[in-house]
Amino acid sequence: MRRAAPPPQPKMAALKHRRTALERVEKFISEVYFTDCNLRGRLFGDRCPAASLSCFQTPRRIPYDEAVRQEFTPAKVGDSFGPTWETCWFKVELSIPPTWAGREVHFVWESDGEGMVWRDAQPVQGLTKEGEKTSYILTSSLKETEPHSMTLYVELACNGLFGAGKGSMIAPPDPDRRFTLTKAELVIFNRDVYELLVDLEILLDMAQLLGEENQRSFQALYTANQMVNVCDVSDPSTFPAARDLAAAIFSQRNGESQHTIHAVGHCHIDSAWLWPYEETIRKCARSWVTVVRLMECNPELTFACSQAQQFEWVRSWYPGLYAQIQDFVAKGRFIPVGGTWVEMDGNLPSGESMVRQFLQGQRFFQEQFGQICSEFWLPDTFGYSAQLPQLMRGCGIRRFLTQKLSWNLVNTFPHHTFFWEGIDGSRVLTHFPPGNSYEMHGRVEEMLKTVKNNKDKGRVNHSAFLFGFGDGGGGPTQKMLDRMKRMSDTDGLPRVQISTPDRLFSVLEKESSQLCTWVGELFLELHNGTYTTQAQIKKGNRECERILHDVEVLSALALARSSTFQYPTSELQRLWRLLLLNQFHDVLPGSCIQLVVEDALRYYAGEQGVWMGEHWVLAGGAPEVSTLDCQALWVRPVQEDGSITMENGVIAVCLDSMGRLTSLHLVGSERESVPEGCYANQFALFDDVPLYWDAWDVMDYHLETRKPVTTLLKPLEISLAGGLRGSASFSLQIGKSSTLTQEIILDATCPYLRFLTQVEWKEAHKFLKVEFPLLVRSTNATYEIQFGHLQRPTHWNTSWDWARFEVWAHKWLDLSEHGFGVALLNDCKYGASAHRNVLSLSLLRAPKSPDATADMGHHQFTYAVMPHRGSFQDAGVIQCAYNLNFPLHPVPASSAQCPEAWSSFSVSSPAVVLETVKQAEDSPGAMVVRLYEAHGSTVVAWLRTSLPVQEATLCDLLERPVAGGCLPLEQRGIRLSFTPFRVLSLLLVLRRMVTQPPPWAASSSV
Ligand SMILES: [Zn+2]
Repeated sequence: MRRAAPPPQPKMAALKHRRTALERVEKFISEVYFTDCNLRGRLFGDRCPAASLSCFQTPRRIPYDEAVRQEFTPAKVGDSFGPTWETCWFKVELSIPPTWAGREVHFVWESDGEGMVWRDAQPVQGLTKEGEKTSYILTSSLKETEPHSMTLYVELACNGLFGAGKGSMIAPPDPDRRFTLTKAELVIFNRDVYELLVDLEILLDMAQLLGEENQRSFQALYTANQMVNVCDVSDPSTFPAARDLAAAIFSQRNGESQHTIHAVGHCHIDSAWLWPYEETIRKCARSWVTVVRLMECNPELTFACSQAQQFEWVRSWYPGLYAQIQDFVAKGRFIPVGGTWVEMDGNLPSGESMVRQFLQGQRFFQEQFGQICSEFWLPDTFGYSAQLPQLMRGCGIRRFLTQKLSWNLVNTFPHHTFFWEGIDGSRVLTHFPPGNSYEMHGRVEEMLKTVKNNKDKGRVNHSAFLFGFGDGGGGPTQKMLDRMKRMSDTDGLPRVQISTPDRLFSVLEKESSQLCTWVGELFLELHNGTYTTQAQIKKGNRECERILHDVEVLSALALARSSTFQYPTSELQRLWRLLLLNQFHDVLPGSCIQLVVEDALRYYAGEQGVWMGEHWVLAGGAPEVSTLDCQALWVRPVQEDGSITMENGVIAVCLDSMGRLTSLHLVGSERESVPEGCYANQFALFDDVPLYWDAWDVMDYHLETRKPVTTLLKPLEISLAGGLRGSASFSLQIGKSSTLTQEIILDATCPYLRFLTQVEWKEAHKFLKVEFPLLVRSTNATYEIQFGHLQRPTHWNTSWDWARFEVWAHKWLDLSEHGFGVALLNDCKYGASAHRNVLSLSLLRAPKSPDATADMGHHQFTYAVMPHRGSFQDAGVIQCAYNLNFPLHPVPASSAQCPEAWSSFSVSSPAVVLETVKQAEDSPGAMVVRLYEAHGSTVVAWLRTSLPVQEATLCDLLERPVAGGCLPLEQRGIRLSFTPFRVLSLLLVLRRMVTQPPPWAASSSV
């Protein structure tokens, strides 16, 4: 009788308890638990300290050549260095043990400062622990022929990835912080262990995140569990079997309908923020050299990089690295994006400044890399002007990427991929990476979020995924890439491909037939304090925009009149670039540390110096003073109550002893502007304590803390009783220790009343505004933006309405009903609001982070109120706001001769503003003039000029002639047709010029 063979033993199945299986895998790869016996504990093999370590410390950021000539003194691991912002240079002698032949050897450096490794006088690797960059790979397999000994230098910046905030990230920097060197050694890196760890991390994430309703979660869990079973951590020969299990599950493919993620390497670098501009230069070098190293080992890696200014920094300070970057740009892997000089603020720069951001940026990219950018890239900016689509289109850009609206506090933006339409009707294809971040790590969780979060499911099936540590963290890591390789096409997860912005947008364009359109501004419902914080920076910006405008106009006119005139081309480029740099999205908004504010104000002072140093003269659109009837202007006290009345034949006002308007009306009209019992020019102080982002945010609840400013220091008294100018002055106490002095000025024939204001500001977490309650009823107020204006509601009906309790404007805002309205003009303010019938201008804030001294001290600014008949367009509000911002520049005449009047340009339609006159970038004998339609109307305008124009051609904002754009020169001038808010640029070629007397020998108007 034969005995039956025993049945085959089934392979031990995973047991049934999901949680123990999950946690078992977790512990197997844990960095904290069981590292004595788990897989993680085997990641590194033998270690060997540096043969010698010495250092030299300096308060300056110095070049390598200078640093290595200094005297180095012995140092050791555990030493600390500082204080903040100093630099410590280390000389590190290394000697790899010969027994490590065949092994992968890393130099490991850990510190809380930001490090750069130099080898053979070249930067080779950035080392920033916060960006998971602690290893410089010396060899992937040590050969006997390789040198085993070498000298490296490490340049250690005494600041962290986010500066040196004391206690919290955005707190002002601790000036005395010390930075510690915690590791400087050679180690063997076990690549096979690392690969297994990456496999297991992904399987564990899939098991946890796909959820119990998804069978794929269990497949991942049981695979991981089985891998732990087959893996003997002390015997690497067991690893391949475990890896095969992982490979088998990762290679189970998706169906055709699966979403595709376009992963692009990225490293968001703030051009200045919690550290000064100078440190950013090093952050760029540390980060980009790290990217270049990673590209050398990963031929698929792409990297999108914005901000021409940062390329320019690296070009001048790190030419060797820059040459390597140029190679990768040529290969299409290091990809310049954005097209702008910096990632600027999206609200406050003027229209012309925004044009120059693109002009300087795109020209730089063209010159350096032979290509302009086809997408605008502004992931981190605090809102986006409704004029941007037209400016992008004019600069060769049809695509836009950002994600900041995911920070909205109140409303969730309804799209991730859509057409964005500006105030003129221009449209750009816009994409917000649906994962709501530009600093992804290539994890399962982020992939799932990208798909789940996408608001345009069913319309598009592709989205962007920007991965990499920013701000000096060195961008992508090997691990991020290795994760995404495994996830490239695995059932249960979206498809992931390393891609480029161009590939993504090309696919989106093909899929765009079902996309929705968003019309108007992309308003960020957060960070509304940035329209006001750091008033001196805002003022510097507005002033320098004016100065550069004036210098360009005058230089261009001088050039037109005299061929011997040297147009200051390179000087103007230098000054524009400084102004554009200060428009960076943490500088102009005022969300930077004190060191950055000092730099910014110094740059502005340089530009103001240029103006003061030259003998320019410019006549604006101000009235001819010689023909005034001086009797028309008077200022009179009203005896009984200390109030004063002023009248100039155009407007009449009554002011109380606190400088408040109790009456404002047009002479000859009974129509009053100030409601009975109300005061206009009423100052109000609010508590201003946000939830976290101090310099950035003013919260809705600040409105509940309003206190009118009513403590009089000096009552209103007449300063100038009449003639060409009348004025009255007063002083107020604000809060506990601040004071305000104001001179209220009425000029002859002027249709607005000016408020020249001086404030000594010493508050903490207070917000000062000035309010104008008006006898005007309208559900919308109008605000000037770049090259145009838009309306916002004056009510709080919906959450979208009340989320705009604090908004931005440029030179004016207006509240009008049919036939009558009142405008509020300003010369350097941006924050404003209009609620019901009250227009408010935001004047000063007092945040304490990240600059504890923000806005403390003296301020001077001017605003004005202008009642008007008819619409603000017909009443000339736009022109008056220009006049307030571009005051007349009188200069002493050299002789008593009275020259004949001379005008260089005139435009037939009041709807059209001639904004810019400059030399053409590519043709020194030509000039560019830029005009825009400001009323929101379709209009034909004739541009007349007395300059010797030979040829006129329409061009785009990059000054490239438009096909078929040649314009005939007619008797009436050049015929231009505008649609609402259309910006037109013209190239004017001048005839061979004969030297004529300079235009400022005569009175001129531009
Ligand atoms: Zn940023």
